[in-house]
Amino acid sequence: MKKFNMTINGQQIISDSYFDVINPATEQVFAQCAKGSADDVDRAVDAASEAFKSWSVMADADRKAALHAVASLLETNMPELMELIVQETGKPMLGLNQVGAGMEVGGAAAWAHVNADIDLPVEVIQDNEDARIELHRKPLGVVASITPWNWPLLIAIWHIIPAMRAGNTVVLKPSPLTPVTTARFVELANTVLPPGVLNLVSGDGDVGAAMTAHEGIAKVVFTGSTDTGKQIMKAASGNLKRLTLELGGNDAGIVLDDVDPIAIAPKLIGACFHNNGQTCAALKRLYVHESMYESVCSEMARLASGLVVGNGLAEGTELGPVQNQMQLEIVESLAESARTEGGRFLCGGKRREGKGYFYEPTIVADLVDGNRLVDEEPFGPIVPVIKYSDIDEVIKQANSSPNGLGGSVWSTDTARAVEIGKRLETGTVWINDHGAVQPDMPFGGVKQSGFGVEFGLHGLQEFTSIQSVKIAK
Ligand code: NDP
Repeated sequence: MKKFNMTINGQQIISDSYFDVINPATEQVFAQCAKGSADDVDRAVDAASEAFKSWSVMADADRKAALHAVASLLETNMPELMELIVQETGKPMLGLNQVGAGMEVGGAAAWAHVNADIDLPVEVIQDNEDARIELHRKPLGVVASITPWNWPLLIAIWHIIPAMRAGNTVVLKPSPLTPVTTARFVELANTVLPPGVLNLVSGDGDVGAAMTAHEGIAKVVFTGSTDTGKQIMKAASGNLKRLTLELGGNDAGIVLDDVDPIAIAPKLIGACFHNNGQTCAALKRLYVHESMYESVCSEMARLASGLVVGNGLAEGTELGPVQNQMQLEIVESLAESARTEGGRFLCGGKRREGKGYFYEPTIVADLVDGNRLVDEEPFGPIVPVIKYSDIDEVIKQANSSPNGLGGSVWSTDTARAVEIGKRLETGTVWINDHGAVQPDMPFGGVKQSGFGVEFGLHGLQEFTSIQSVKIAK
């Protein structure tokens, strides 16, 4: 059985104990990963603190070059990393709309290259006979990155590349459900980075808790559930760590009365079901105007029924299994609540027989707000389609969620859609699209979806503090 190790100070750390990693398509253990401890966190923070002394003052061009070298390693090792991603997450090699392991590794490389090139120039806000005032961006120190299981490699890249670009060093903890691609990537990255700049400690809750409370860590960047985000916020208060929290979403999409259902349905299906709905900014509640309701429902159901579900390693698979048993149980329980309260199942609605955490792509009509499937984030291949008649009322419904990650408006009248979109309480709004992110567009939530943004210059600035320099004349 292949074993994956921690990396501390550039060294592979052989651990006393290893935990099993399950392939969700087979329910078989396919790898083991080192079980780290709070002592390992101490060692990693020490190594990162030591490395910070030289990495933070390294010439900008050298730091850029090192990060481009990391990005290139993702490209040259793409086949191996893709296969590991499929085995641990279940997602297909290519997947629905090409959103699969290829996109995860290829996207990680693209993100790393783009973010390596973003500059943090000194800003001059005054230069006159009285004074010159410059704003300098300084790295914070050691950054802790805590990642979830849905996009383990890509989200790690989203965290660590800007952190390192700005001059910080990193201790990374992957989800125990999906640690292996990240562990292998960090091993590779350490062949081109100075020792201690990027460390990985794998393990369970103890490791995450040790990191978020550690006095040697200056910032935590976390992607995961809102509940865990709240715990991290509490733990981080000890030494007032900075935080970027990218938490759950229950994104609403609003379809107006002027759409072409046949034209928008494929995009809606992609937005709801890519990665099996296990994406923070997937479309999770779809509100459709009554005049379009039946036609949108039937076209979506037709497309969803034809999706190819299976082992991600098999050619042509569009959706894999749900990543883990616990998540599958959440999906089943929300489906049950929809069934009990009169939901009309247009397709799917059950677990597939046999091994693997497979659940049929499911669309449920005729539910109203207040049903659990509408109000809670399923994070799986099930979506409610809700009928509305009044635009002000539906905006209220969309905004009634405690979360505020993303939202979308679908219409042939773009100007009208933008006006409605601006009324949504979300960090991002898409018009005639949903969930599409890119490396130079800030992305983050409002309300209980967290705070701080990722990507682009604004995301990079989150890994810095401002030092104002006032030069009297
Ligand atoms: P969690 O938020 O519990 O876990 C995400 C990461 O946080 C893991 O690496 C986990 O590691 C770590 N963690 C958990 N508790 C702590 C803590 N107290 N201090 C520091 N780190 C901690 O997500 P789950 O995997 O349990 O999924 C639960 C729900 O979260 C899903 O049903 C889904 O709704 C949502 N989710 C949202 C994601 C997003 O992209 N926004 C991604 C994944 C899930 P460990 O388990 O070792 O503690």
